[in-house]
Amino acid sequence: MACSSQNSSVFHRSLHKPYPTAVGGEGVYLFTADGRKILDGSCGAAVSGIGHGNKEVIEAVCEQMRRLAYIQTSFFTTDPAEALASAILENSDGAFSKVMFLSSGSEAVESALKMARQYHVYNGQPERVHVVGRHHSYHGNTLGALAAGHNPSRRDTFAPILSPAFHHVRRCFYQADGGGSLSEAEYEDELLAEYEETFKRLGPETVAAVIVEPVVGATLGAAPATPNYLPRLSKLCRSYGILTIFDEIMCGMGRVGTYHAWQSLGGVSPDLQTVGKGLGAGYQPLSAVLVGPTVHNAFQEHSKGSNGFISGHTFQGHPAACAGALAVQKILKRDNLISKCGELGQVLHDALESQLPEELSQGGGKLRGMGLFRAVDFGDMGASYGGPLAEEVATKAFDLGASVYLCSPNVDAILICPPFISTEEEIKELARITIQAVKEVLERKN
Ligand code: PLP
Repeated sequence: MACSSQNSSVFHRSLHKPYPTAVGGEGVYLFTADGRKILDGSCGAAVSGIGHGNKEVIEAVCEQMRRLAYIQTSFFTTDPAEALASAILENSDGAFSKVMFLSSGSEAVESALKMARQYHVYNGQPERVHVVGRHHSYHGNTLGALAAGHNPSRRDTFAPILSPAFHHVRRCFYQADGGGSLSEAEYEDELLAEYEETFKRLGPETVAAVIVEPVVGATLGAAPATPNYLPRLSKLCRSYGILTIFDEIMCGMGRVGTYHAWQSLGGVSPDLQTVGKGLGAGYQPLSAVLVGPTVHNAFQEHSKGSNGFISGHTFQGHPAACAGALAVQKILKRDNLISKCGELGQVLHDALESQLPEELSQGGGKLRGMGLFRAVDFGDMGASYGGPLAEEVATKAFDLGASVYLCSPNVDAILICPPFISTEEEIKELARITIQAVKEVLERKN
């Protein structure tokens, strides 16, 4: 049964579209109350990496809830939080020394921004107040995270109440902006020069941090940084005493075929990193800030007694969420799911590419992405088809039995990010349904 605003008491994101009622999930499939079986081609928004109904994770969460459902993290730590933090650090090539757990991605971004600010205050540089983000990035919906990001459709209404301490430089989106005439290195030169100009305009000694999505998700559709962009940006920031924050809430936790996306994009780690979505894989809401040694050491040295990081949330470090995410990490490792994600990503790309309708490739449509984080971008085709295509394609794919994610209107694109546990056949079926949806929409618009 689909809920419309007429028969629902929930304040849904849209009060005008009907919402099918989801009643179950098993493996890569979701089930609705009206008997439909939907191939989960988007994991919500890159969340459900190990699929649905995993009994080991469910049991780990239940077992923790039976033992202890909740504590306040200013009074206690717990075994699952400690074990989960250790597991994350072990997978991080020595990049981080501590982990702070929050509940949502936006909370993690807020905490990383505040940590960066407090770090500079501890270091005797309270004048460092500015944060530099990028056009068409998304870092969350709370006011600090919204200010750091730059997704016009989500931001513009609230712009007058956002802090003026946030600034934005150009996105790194070589496929769209490289112009064909610039090499990747020349393109990076331009982007890095803009960062440096921005630092100089603001006064480099007043800049606290830059924040970057290594592979831009919801706003551009799986758009990865060019190979040397992140290492070069990190070096530039270090030369001015500016901290780097990588937001891997969508692209991290194995989604691109390595545990962290930066491990596939030049190998240079940030000072602070945010993760969420895939961390708990949807079994519980959980996010985290991964804290590198520079920031950790300053807090270690300067904080006194119980006065530490000036921030906190009631549900942070929730024991059941940590227990669930710990079980997820064990499964990722035991079943070798992250390298499998990289391999399946190639299967998905090849399957999409081999079936791509001619109109799409000739009309400027493009594929891109890494691992199981892929996009089909319709480029400017909408102009000759009477309007953007992505929303119609996503709706058609859903009707045909697969969910894909609609990117925000900066691009006319859909994101395809299925579970890592998918079989090759399921990946090919997902590609087949997606391409069939594309073909039907193009035919209808012809
Ligand atoms: N950062 C990125 C890169 C995201 O993709 C998202 C969510 O889509 C967020 C932050 C915000 O996370 P949440 O929706 O859990 O608050």
